[in-house]
Amino acid sequence: MLKLKKIKKSYKTGDFVQHALKGIDLEFRKNEFVAILGPSGSGKTTLLNIIGGLDRYDSGDLIINGKSTKKFKQSDWDAYRNNCIGFIFQSYNLISHISVIENVEMGMTLSGISAKKRHKKAMEVLKKVGLKEHAHKKPNQLSGGQMQRVAIARALANNPDIILADEPTGALDSKTSVQIMELITEIAKDKLVIMVTHNPELANVYANRIVEFRDGELIDDSNPLEDNDKENTYNIKKTAMSYLTALKLSFNNIRTKKGRTLLTAFASSIGIIGIALILSLSNGFKLQIDKFEKDTLSQAPIIISKQSMNMDSMSKMKEDDDLEEYSEKELIHPQKTVENLVHKNIITKEYVETIKSINPELIGGISYQRATNINLLTKIDNKVKQLDSSSIMSPMPSTLDNKEANVMKDNFDIIYGNYTTNKEDLVLLVDSKNRVAESTLKALGLTEKDIDFKDIVGKEFKVILNNDYYKSLGEFYTIETDLEKIYKNENALTLKITGIIRGKKDSDFAKLSGSGLMYNNSLTDYIIEKNNKSDIVNAQKEKNYNILTTELFDESTEEGKEAKEMTLSYLGAETTPVAIQLYPKDFDSKDEVLKVLDNYNEGKKDEDKIQYMDQAKLITTMSGSIMDAITIVLIAFSAISLVVSSIMIGIITYISVLERTKEIGILRALGARKKDITRVFNAETFIIGLASGTIGLIIAKLLTFPANSIIENLTKLENVAKLNPKHGIILLIISILLTVIGGLIPSKVAAKKDPVEALRSE
Ligand code: ADP
Ligand code: MG
Repeated sequence: MLKLKKIKKSYKTGDFVQHALKGIDLEFRKNEFVAILGPSGSGKTTLLNIIGGLDRYDSGDLIINGKSTKKFKQSDWDAYRNNCIGFIFQSYNLISHISVIENVEMGMTLSGISAKKRHKKAMEVLKKVGLKEHAHKKPNQLSGGQMQRVAIARALANNPDIILADEPTGALDSKTSVQIMELITEIAKDKLVIMVTHNPELANVYANRIVEFRDGELIDDSNPLEDNDKENTYNIKKTAMSYLTALKLSFNNIRTKKGRTLLTAFASSIGIIGIALILSLSNGFKLQIDKFEKDTLSQAPIIISKQSMNMDSMSKMKEDDDLEEYSEKELIHPQKTVENLVHKNIITKEYVETIKSINPELIGGISYQRATNINLLTKIDNKVKQLDSSSIMSPMPSTLDNKEANVMKDNFDIIYGNYTTNKEDLVLLVDSKNRVAESTLKALGLTEKDIDFKDIVGKEFKVILNNDYYKSLGEFYTIETDLEKIYKNENALTLKITGIIRGKKDSDFAKLSGSGLMYNNSLTDYIIEKNNKSDIVNAQKEKNYNILTTELFDESTEEGKEAKEMTLSYLGAETTPVAIQLYPKDFDSKDEVLKVLDNYNEGKKDEDKIQYMDQAKLITTMSGSIMDAITIVLIAFSAISLVVSSIMIGIITYISVLERTKEIGILRALGARKKDITRVFNAETFIIGLASGTIGLIIAKLLTFPANSIIENLTKLENVAKLNPKHGIILLIISILLTVIGGLIPSKVAAKKDPVEALRSE
């Protein structure tokens, strides 16, 4: 069953070589109780360790069930220890921080036996050694004899074929020794038991074979094996510790030093607290800035109008500041008036095309201001009346088809009815108190104090096209006087109020918008399309005087040209808009929109450039980048403390490795792989990392309350510090990763420990 062939083992310490085993030939039967006798230092323990696979022989061969172990891999040895061998040591070698039954179960735990089966088997062997009642005690609550019984129970638990006992009674009194010997004899009935002892009396009484050692050599064997019984039934199940077992072991160990673990976790959580706080603050400020940006965005569209003031001209004005007051010098300086500083924008067709080419995704709305008159009629008390469209109506930003950003939807609520972007639809905008200018209401024929929504929605107007609205008087044109006739004209377009809207409570843009009727840009597009070809427009183009008022245009001057242009625009000739308002979706979009507008000006002469107004631009670029910079610097500082704490964790883990050397040895003797030992310590650092991350996040969360109240006192901003849950989870993972990395080297050190030496350590 077990055969040693010329086994040699020597130890080198410095230059000195100790030959512990000098070529041992020895064979054991499947079932016998062998006692090994010999003086101290004769190589008995070395022999047991080699038989048990705890130590490697230098030369020779160990044959197990007819199979040579020369080609054994580490994992084979681990499995062999776990399944075939049960160790009993002089100093018991129990793991002190887990209970008796958990100690007994450990070997089975390592070989992956289910908890239920494990428990049953452990109770069985504990009963066998007479310790059923003590199963849930900790080892240090037992006497020496009892502890050795636990060790025996543990050795038996995995039902091994071979029990190796190294001076099992060495630390016990004679009476207890006898009890233990009897127990071992009982076991030896169906196993191979190899017991080292230096008590020849006990050996003589209990063992059925005595082997004697001296100076690493076998000098006597009372019952040597003659026949070669060959059984080739070697088959060992490999061991593997589950992550859960590793976690449980570490958790139990950590529980025995709660204070230290808590302090460690707390200390290393400081980095996490720092970063979490900084992130929640910068996150909060970003949210505030976003909100502010959104507000200003809605308030301040990019405006392109006929005239604009730009920064350059502002700085030109500043030049005058250098001039001396009440000067003695006899010099005169030209004073720049506001008019000099204004830049005249000539909005060309090309420019309008440029704006139309902007990606609609970037824009929440556009509105074009046109000079075109809307020839508007209404019927009040059955009488047709003319309305001055420019005083009661304004265009609303066309919102394109962008679902994400929509200036109208973002800033206004529909409080009654509905509206579409059709040219026929009008909406009535009321202020926060549901008011509309009295003059507007009067023009609509509404004079009551409280007007029902129903009386407004559904109200109709007629837009009359130029050819029906104006009639020719030869050289001049005038408005048709028979309003009843043109009202009924089949070419007239019917407008209808379809909804009532009101600004949202928190929309500053809405507050600035006043009240009145609003129409879609598509209405003016339609009117221009029709009226551009009308008789009056064609006639006006020919004449150098205003065809309605007879006023002359002096086309040799800029003013004269402009006046004619304005008249044509009024009449509906195809002209460019007077002003354009662009509502970018957000600030990133705004940048892109502005890039398009700046591109247009690229390489153009100064007077052909078109300047836009964008007040919000300055504030936001500054605030955003400053926040980012501050955040990065602060996070870098906190990151240093995180690194420091992970180094600290490394040290603590290393200390823990030193403290648990013995436990490492025991686990290895029970068949734990190197990997399992690494796992145990990684589990420990995992627990510490999890704890420190959790503590850090909780403390950071608690600190946001005082932080918020301080910020509120200083800035009137409520609830600024807000930890993004995503950031929290990432920080927790970082904390765990860093501590596990910190403990990686110590846990590798632990795994590398020689099990024999580890067992010998105290
Ligand atoms: P026994 O158990 O019979 O008392 P051991 O097998 O423990 O003897 O030791 C045999 C010899 O080998 C002793 O001389 C001991 O000093 C030496 N020895 C054992 N282990 C080591 C080691 N790890 N390093 C150096 N020498 C060792
Ligand atoms: Mg010894």
